[in-house]
Amino acid sequence: MENQTIFSGATLFQGMDESVIQNGMIWIQDDRIKYAGEASNLEIDDQSVQRIDLGGKFVMPGMTECHAHLSFTDANPFQLGAQSPEEAMLTGIRNARVMLGSGFTSALSFGSIHKVDVALRTAINNAEIPGPRLAAAGRDLGVSGSTVDSGVFDGLEQIADGPWELRKAVRQQRREGVDIVKIFIDGEGVCEHCTQHELSFHDDEVVAVVDEAHRHGLRVACHSRSAAGVKQAVRSGVDYIAHANFLDEEAADMLHEVKDSVFVGPGIIWELGLIEHCESLGLTSEWVRERGYEEEVEASIKSVQMMLERDIRMMVGGDYGISVAPHGTYAKDLEIFVDMFGMSPQKALLCATRDGGAAADPNGNLGTLEAGKYADILIVDGNPIDDIKIMQDQSRFSAIIKGGTIYRKLMDDFDFTIQASDITAKCV
Ligand SMILES: [Zn+2]
Repeated sequence: MENQTIFSGATLFQGMDESVIQNGMIWIQDDRIKYAGEASNLEIDDQSVQRIDLGGKFVMPGMTECHAHLSFTDANPFQLGAQSPEEAMLTGIRNARVMLGSGFTSALSFGSIHKVDVALRTAINNAEIPGPRLAAAGRDLGVSGSTVDSGVFDGLEQIADGPWELRKAVRQQRREGVDIVKIFIDGEGVCEHCTQHELSFHDDEVVAVVDEAHRHGLRVACHSRSAAGVKQAVRSGVDYIAHANFLDEEAADMLHEVKDSVFVGPGIIWELGLIEHCESLGLTSEWVRERGYEEEVEASIKSVQMMLERDIRMMVGGDYGISVAPHGTYAKDLEIFVDMFGMSPQKALLCATRDGGAAADPNGNLGTLEAGKYADILIVDGNPIDDIKIMQDQSRFSAIIKGGTIYRKLMDDFDFTIQASDITAKCV
């Protein structure tokens, strides 16, 4: 039977541009949006349609976490991989629920321990567990001597060298069922054998990974901090570029050339968390500074300005799931985008909704509130355009709707109420 609901009296942010409709309305039919826009534009006679007056609450598209690590366990980032597949699966189930409960109705994975993402994606799609729509990644793929080859990420790493070995690795990941192949193009300040400015792959190797992935309908996501790394990613046809901290003019111009097909995730929560909480990891501030992290934050702010000038699409998300940036705090990115990158709150919301949705679903079903798109909707008690920080307060979500199913108060005591679904019985 058809299930239809109309939410009226909405302060409506459709996520197509920065505009807000004061007397907005949204009409859901089953898992899709039938209408979204000005309430006055529409007369509805059908009395069977359920109507809910929101009394001015803020209505926006569900957000997309575009650098998700659902199998990370909020541990010390140097001990992430110390989970058996069974433990990692339980971690993933818990975090999928937390992510959805934080207002993220979709997620684009940037790597998972073992094959956890693939099983999570299937279980979420089958409504066996609550979670965001997930584009699943497998283990991090890298060459010998890369950051991936650190020996501390058991279950998270896959090492292959040369174009043909890498093609084989992509084929193996394809067989395992991933959507995304995650590679490390350059390194990391904390990694003494492969720094943030050091390229791991030969060009031929990245080209081989991307070609093999694309031939099988997979997308490629990369870790790339340096300008040289971003240039290698663009030259090779990588789809998603995380970090891009140290852009130069040439790298920014190259991104501009491919701005209709490439997305960049400039989140810096890892750097900020490391700088602020280094002592909890047994590191000193001096060491963190020596390894270039303060410089990396400064460079990132400049790089984001270069991308804003060139209208390059940016996604929120970045390595949440570690002790210095735990699950559930994903919307901190919005605050960083506003306070440190100088975006308007509306622009930050567009990164989290329209642009993240386009990144996660190339078929265009996500990210905006428009007729025909999935009914992935947040109803917020408060206006994030006045205070972007409220997006970090899960108690502000009056409703989190994914595919027309209403989830509520996921974070309070695990007692979430779901209408039109028996998912509670299966999961709690
Ligand atoms: Zn990551």
